[in-house]
Amino acid sequence: MTMSINWFSVGATSLVLLLTCGLLGAMFLIIKLSSDDSGKYKVIKDMVETLFETPAHLRSSPAAKSEADNKEAAAQSAAALEPFVEACPACGDTVTESHKECPSCGLRLQ
Ligand SMILES: [Zn+2]
Repeated sequence: MTMSINWFSVGATSLVLLLTCGLLGAMFLIIKLSSDDSGKYKVIKDMVETLFETPAHLRSSPAAKSEADNKEAAAQSAAALEPFVEACPACGDTVTESHKECPSCGLRLQ
């Protein structure tokens, strides 16, 4: 093993360590900034929430869907209201024929 190869491997190891530390540091910085409530780093906060959290309209959809299914079954047996399941034009939340207003944003639907 020559000296130059040895130094190269030391350099490569250092570079990997440096990159790892840099990534960890950046991650902690983003987490720190995203937990700041002053609103100064709102863009970063929104970005982190988009990356790591389920958006509100997706989070509420399973419950809304089962509710919509129940409504649909009831409407089919009773043949009463004309059923519809749509996304709210304002916020994208799921709304059905039973909603006069969007439960999420309050938009008038009927
Ligand atoms: Zn809405």
